[in-house]
Amino acid sequence: MDALYRAVRTNQTVHSAPFNYSVSSANTSQTAIRIWQLEVIPIAENDDQPKYLVITIYDNTDKIKLTNKFENISLREANSTKKGPPADEVALIENEELTNINETLIALNRELVFLQNELLNANLKLEERVLSRTKELAYSEALMHSAIESAQMGTWYIHTETREFRSSARTIEIFGFDRDKKMTYNEVLAQIHPDHRQMVLNAIETSIHQCARFNVEYQINKLHEDKIVWVRCIGNIHYDDNRKPDFITGVIQDITEQKYDEQRKNDFIGMVSHELKTPLTSLSAYIQILQKEFKGADKIIISLLDKAYGQMKRMNRMINGFLTISHLESGKIHLNKQHFRLDKLLATVMEEISMMGPDHQFEYVPGDEVVVFADQEKIINVISNILINAVKYSPGKTAIETRCFKASDIAIVSVKDYGIGIKSTEMEKLFERYYRVEDNKSISGFGIGLYLSAEIVHRHNGKIWVESEIGKGSTFYFSLPVDTNE
Ligand code: ADP
Repeated sequence: MDALYRAVRTNQTVHSAPFNYSVSSANTSQTAIRIWQLEVIPIAENDDQPKYLVITIYDNTDKIKLTNKFENISLREANSTKKGPPADEVALIENEELTNINETLIALNRELVFLQNELLNANLKLEERVLSRTKELAYSEALMHSAIESAQMGTWYIHTETREFRSSARTIEIFGFDRDKKMTYNEVLAQIHPDHRQMVLNAIETSIHQCARFNVEYQINKLHEDKIVWVRCIGNIHYDDNRKPDFITGVIQDITEQKYDEQRKNDFIGMVSHELKTPLTSLSAYIQILQKEFKGADKIIISLLDKAYGQMKRMNRMINGFLTISHLESGKIHLNKQHFRLDKLLATVMEEISMMGPDHQFEYVPGDEVVVFADQEKIINVISNILINAVKYSPGKTAIETRCFKASDIAIVSVKDYGIGIKSTEMEKLFERYYRVEDNKSISGFGIGLYLSAEIVHRHNGKIWVESEIGKGSTFYFSLPVDTNE
């Protein structure tokens, strides 16, 4: 306590008087008395009065013992000049004590050398680790660079607040700027095609505010070349230490060729589907005439004509699917919206599809009366696709339940089957174009039904999703905004 008062009073570093305290040795687990001291350092903000005391306790046993021994010797030397034991006896004692001191010093020295070696080893290990980490980093950086270069990608950076923009030489090249020119954020935005600019801005803002990754495709006007280029841009948000959005980094790739290829493929699909529709319409008319003519004929003929008509309708649905895809891709799809009862439509479509799967037990569970403002033909396509899948992917005489209900201002349609089910890892991908689950490839299909359904539902500002358990069955849902004006 005295040391503390003195430190406060004098505003100087003070060492306390030594005091004894027993501690147990880590090696022998015996207790030994050690001598300790406190070092009290006052910390003052302005020179007069200390505000804090930094107190360190240290083991001073060896030093104090050494000092005491020297002091004893000096004292004895001083006494021997007066009167005391015979000189050779004193010399013997002194010699013995000097030997002890020497031994202590040698032991301390050994300990010091040992500690120095330990430190050296630790240092070497640390250096090795830093070296290997640096090599790893250099390796992954080289890999990343070669991947980016071979994919002909450009890289870029946007600061979320200042909108500072940095870019690689390839990004500058894609935009058609001079190689040594530094592009600014606004200059980049100005090059984006006016039809796509707002969509890109929205993607960036959403990424910043919802801390999400973005992946957009858009057109840019290549500077100096008067040329339109399609690009895909993928960005990732990064945070500062306070988890606040800090900057976005990403890659950009010229996908013009890919887009033109897709466009050619779409045009081809569109043209073929369109050409196939004409003979199919005639075929449908002929079959219907034959059905009328043979109304009272042999049962076999009637059944064969019914089957022919059913297959013709199936082919018609497929061709319509491809035609819709090509319209979607070329942006030619148009919604003919009208008011109608979604619950009634569901019941009617279910009735029709149930003819195709007479083995299954279809059940319409009555729910709410829901009026929507939508393209009825396209919603029929969505319901048919989901119901046909429920039949296709449910072997056996299982039940298929359909419902239509209201949840605040949205209408929800659900189709539940007790079929093969879907793995959770596949659920997101089902709605992608041409995606088919690998295990079900033996069941015929093109992987476009759910893609088309999702596109149609999204264009109505609705959602589509699935819940499923493998081996137990699936429930597909889609929602549409309820028409509140009705
Ligand atoms: P298609 O049925 O022509 O392959 P879809 O786009 O309609 O194409 O469906 C995509 C994939 O989703 C199907 O290949 C199938 O594996 C899976 N799928 C769709 N509906 C169901 C269902 N009700 N039960 C299990 N799997 C389904």
